[in-house]
Amino acid sequence: MDLESVKSEIDRVVITETQLQSRLKEMAEQVSRDYQGRDLLLIGVLKGAAMAMADLARLINSHLEMDWMAVSSYGAGTKSSGVVRILKDLDRDITNREILIVEDILDTGLTLSWLKANLESRGAKSVEILTVVRKPDATKVDIKPKYVGFDIPNEFVVGYGLDFNERYRNLPFIAVLAKHMYS
Ligand code: 5GP
Repeated sequence: MDLESVKSEIDRVVITETQLQSRLKEMAEQVSRDYQGRDLLLIGVLKGAAMAMADLARLINSHLEMDWMAVSSYGAGTKSSGVVRILKDLDRDITNREILIVEDILDTGLTLSWLKANLESRGAKSVEILTVVRKPDATKVDIKPKYVGFDIPNEFVVGYGLDFNERYRNLPFIAVLAKHMYS
């Protein structure tokens, strides 16, 4: 869906499609280098990471496997609940696997720190995080993603996998949702 179709619903574009794709390419090159000769398993966090996962995986120049998890996050609102629940678990055993979690956004970090600990407790060899965007609050928690696409201001954003009430995931850019859409 293009910008024209949502012009009255968004406040401004924060990251353009071109910026997103070129940063993903850079990160994919870094991942390819870092995981050379290692058996990489990408774990995408549904549903937000679907776009990033699809684009990133195609840009990584080595064999890899992909799996998915779904955990609860915001529900229908715009505030983090801090409650993490597994809605869909991995298909396979991850003992001794080298894991890179692919996430759309790192906000309070509650979801990812829980997820990282959960995967480590299952015997993974390594668990690293790649996030497309990171909000300021994320720097206050003890969670250090190995790859960060962009640091963005503390505003509610949609697009490129990120939703508001399940909509806007299919925007190829990331934008701040207009206040009148949720107040
Ligand atoms: P955290 O646990 O880091 O606070 O939040 C992680 C989850 O909250 C993300 O996976 C995402 O679903 C949701 N989230 C946090 N900030 C935003 C935002 O600005 N926009 C959208 N659409 N979701 C967000």
